[in-house]
Amino acid sequence: MENRKVLKSGEFLVDEIQANDIFIPEQFDEEQKMIAQTIQDFLDTELYPNIDQIDSPDINLMKSTLKKAGELGLMGISIPEEYGGFGQSFVTQMLAAETIGAGHSFSVAFMAHTGIGTLPIMYYGNEDQRQKYVTRLATGDLIGAYCLTEPGAGSDANSGKTSATLSEDGKHYILNGQKMWITNANFADTQVVFAKIDKDRVLSTFIVERIFPGVVINPDEHKMGIKGSSTAQIFYNDVKVPVENLIGNRGEGFRIALSILHMGRIKLGANVLGASKKSINDSVKYANERKQFNVLISTFGTIKHKLAEQVIKTFALECAIYRLSKDIDDQIELNKATGMDKGKASVEGISHYAVEAAILKVYGSEVLDFVIDEAVQIHGGMGYSAEMAVERGYRDSRINRIFEGTNEINRLLVVDTAMKRAMKGDFDLFGKANALAADLDAIKDNKKPDESYFEEKYRIIKNYKNLILVVIQGALKHFDKKLILEQEVLNNLADMIMEVYIAESMALRIQKMETLKGIDPTGIYRSMLDVFIYDASDKIRKPAWDAINSFATDGMQGSYKKVIETLSNVNGIDVKEARRKVAEKLIEDNCYKF
Ligand SMILES: Cc1cc2nc3c(=O)[nH]c(=O)nc-3n(C[C@H](O)[C@H](O)[C@H](O)COP(=O)(O)OP(=O)(O)OC[C@H]3O[C@@H](n4cnc5c(N)ncnc54)[C@H](O)[C@@H]3O)c2cc1C
Repeated sequence: MENRKVLKSGEFLVDEIQANDIFIPEQFDEEQKMIAQTIQDFLDTELYPNIDQIDSPDINLMKSTLKKAGELGLMGISIPEEYGGFGQSFVTQMLAAETIGAGHSFSVAFMAHTGIGTLPIMYYGNEDQRQKYVTRLATGDLIGAYCLTEPGAGSDANSGKTSATLSEDGKHYILNGQKMWITNANFADTQVVFAKIDKDRVLSTFIVERIFPGVVINPDEHKMGIKGSSTAQIFYNDVKVPVENLIGNRGEGFRIALSILHMGRIKLGANVLGASKKSINDSVKYANERKQFNVLISTFGTIKHKLAEQVIKTFALECAIYRLSKDIDDQIELNKATGMDKGKASVEGISHYAVEAAILKVYGSEVLDFVIDEAVQIHGGMGYSAEMAVERGYRDSRINRIFEGTNEINRLLVVDTAMKRAMKGDFDLFGKANALAADLDAIKDNKKPDESYFEEKYRIIKNYKNLILVVIQGALKHFDKKLILEQEVLNNLADMIMEVYIAESMALRIQKMETLKGIDPTGIYRSMLDVFIYDASDKIRKPAWDAINSFATDGMQGSYKKVIETLSNVNGIDVKEARRKVAEKLIEDNCYKF
């Protein structure tokens, strides 16, 4: 492991790292690039030519395409070699997830299988369970599903009614209940099912085979998008599940469900990154072919603005994705060094970064929605035609804000988890916040006359962070323990926190790129950073002011307003030119090459 400074989850709010401390995509090695290329080739040959059939109600082609991916070894990337996989690093897993993310409904089926359908057994299962199931899931010989949601238990996942009762002979749990919205339901061989044993308050986790008598699967739901992925309700009618199929301990299910969802969220961030890049490629190719008023539409400033915004947001997301991925890898290695079992080391490493996992899920899914929406707009009327990839992309994108925990739930988690970690003593959030708030009028922007390009950016980012601390302190002082009930304020804070994490990741990556490759003479990357940091000012100022107005007394409003002005202050820059520069590179390359 390299010697670098690694922060705990949420600690970025109060501490800084150096550019050299982060991993950036420019550091992918040849093997990682080869894995990504293999997946890309698979999408190009097996998926895109057949996408209409795959998205039809006939699930056989989806199933056989999944099997082909398994034969190629793509399903074993996250699985240790002793269980039939390739034991790749978390960074590599994320690169694979990014590449597969451009695969529409196939990506959803594949990720449900390799992630939430397989990893609960890999991470929490015992040796027998891993040998029996993981070895076959890793090759696609078996396909997996994850069954948590019920008609009455969605966001409130622990409130499920599915029950498990030990049989009189003590050999089986008798499962009864109903699950809904289950991805891969109609062809999965194994289901990871969450249910309560007897009248337990918390869930337990079971491996259920589709062939067990009493498992009844409804026909697939008719959905807005990701039409090729099978999504259905599953009923359990007195299903006899062998006692040896209990995963982990009795009552451990909710913890398993949550930690698997942390993993799912981070990987969803990578999936939507891949989908965003594909949407940008579709956008620029169309803009470089379509003529109106006798010129290509890519020559219009309005279209350049859209293309540049698509690129800047996507690039920014990518910076945070790989920064976090490497932090997780290091945490996993640290866990292994303590003698932890590989599965446990992985899941603990991933769960450690719960704040950032929620950020990537929310931020990423909203970036993709923005990017694909603009992709449709760039296509004009053709964007509304089912002939075009962007029409499918638009419908497929929307689910990402709903599953793996809705974006509302994840926004709440960003703030709640960060505060809990701080209370636990992981980092000093409250001391720093109190120190700042002790004299609001003394808060300065700390601008220096001769600061370098990056010194200026980091100073501004630090100011944004301090503004978050001021809002947290004010809100806690006013609402105290009832802050948890003030979801609007928590949402304001989440928006600010997400913006800061992404902005900082972007600054760090671009600075590191310059140390690796020298300063980019075209200034493209600095232009992207300029625009992002400049825009972040407004994105941070507005929620800060909204939050403050929910608790500031008349007497305090003036001081707070001054603090917001000071801490969200950025220099005016020519964002029009900066965006044009970015768009013109994209237009010239005719694809995303950043
Ligand atoms: C295509 C698809 C595939 C899926 N695949 C799977 C799968 O494989 N396995 C599985 O187990 N599940 C799966 N799901 C279920 C998915 O995870 C849930 O739909 C999701 O968690 C939301 O639950 P819900 O639909 O019951 O919405 P609800 O929880 O009823 O939420 C409704 C609205 O209320 C908001 N809300 C709820 N609680 C709060 C709160 N405390 N504070 C603020 N706002 C709140 C939500 O954000 C949302 O806007 C899938 C869903 C879909 C649509």
